[in-house]
Amino acid sequence: MTSKVSSNVFRASVTYEPFRSEIREFQLPEIADDAGLLRIEAAGVCGSDIGAHAEVAPERILGHENVGVIEVLGSKAAVRWGVEVRDRVVVEEYLPCGHCDICQTTDFRFCKESDPTAGGVRYGSTGITVNPGYWGGFAEFMYLHPRTVLHKAPRDVSPELLTMALPLGNGYEWAVVEGGSRPGQTVIVFGPGQQGLACVYAAKKAGAESVILLGVGKDSHRLKVGRLLGADIVLDIESVDPLPIIKEMTGGKLADLVIDTARGDAATLSSAILMLKQRGSLLLATAKNNVSGIPLGDAQWKTLSLRGVRGHSYAAVEWAIGQIGKDRDVLANIVTQSFGLNDVDLAIRATANETEHQSIHVSILPWQ
Ligand SMILES: [Zn+2]
Ligand SMILES: [Zn+2]
Repeated sequence: MTSKVSSNVFRASVTYEPFRSEIREFQLPEIADDAGLLRIEAAGVCGSDIGAHAEVAPERILGHENVGVIEVLGSKAAVRWGVEVRDRVVVEEYLPCGHCDICQTTDFRFCKESDPTAGGVRYGSTGITVNPGYWGGFAEFMYLHPRTVLHKAPRDVSPELLTMALPLGNGYEWAVVEGGSRPGQTVIVFGPGQQGLACVYAAKKAGAESVILLGVGKDSHRLKVGRLLGADIVLDIESVDPLPIIKEMTGGKLADLVIDTARGDAATLSSAILMLKQRGSLLLATAKNNVSGIPLGDAQWKTLSLRGVRGHSYAAVEWAIGQIGKDRDVLANIVTQSFGLNDVDLAIRATANETEHQSIHVSILPWQ
């Protein structure tokens, strides 16, 4: 089956130079048998969009935390994806090849075919000159490539809340799958942005005994939300030294796991190493190259594990969608604002905590 939507023209916000986006019109071509078209209901702004918005890159439609309704569906795609026209779905940003060594594991997010830095395609990253051009969620419609990975999503939850599926999936992947949070443990999270809050929530749901969330002065609103999501204590590390408090809380045992979602700089990593117990784990969700001044000798002496983390598995997003359905009142505390398609630049600045809005996770509602 091939078909078209009625008007054939739709609007998208194209980021055409650093910090600047504008509305442009796109033509909808026919959709092939193995592809589809998504009517975007809501597209979340990811923390990674802050960096993407600032970089010199080909013109593109950002937005990869996409929730929408299947508008057009090829007959082969319907069979392959197991969905029907008008189903609501959460779309993974990854477009994995499905048959390489990596795709044979739960790590399909690392497939080279979906790595824009290696010439692959990915929702919210690929440029408008790559056919058919509409690869991002900050738009009324988005192309569904044959390699799309979908999750069916409930109808009785708001699309804005469902845009948390990917960042909450990251929180589960990092705090639980990679970090092994479990009953009896002390987990420390640096950074109360959407990813840090998702880690707090997931660690607590996995039964961690104490979850400690660390932020700075301008994060006071986010730290309060951290308490609502399950953090046992939240600390502004510009006004208190967290180490004595962590020692006291743990009876001197220190932490099992530290997750850095904040800076990846020498100050953060040095204090993380001091906070960890023997054989503790340090997860880097952000990091810079050529950082000096990190006490790696102490890390070796404590036999610490250090691991980078990036993105989520399919199962983590399924878990997140389930939690959004069950625990919507709590998770709604992270979802702070929505913006129209004209305000993509403002929405990204709000995500960076650079506006007067006390934003955490914001969405673009393209039909607003
Ligand atoms: Zn993201
Ligand atoms: Zn692959």
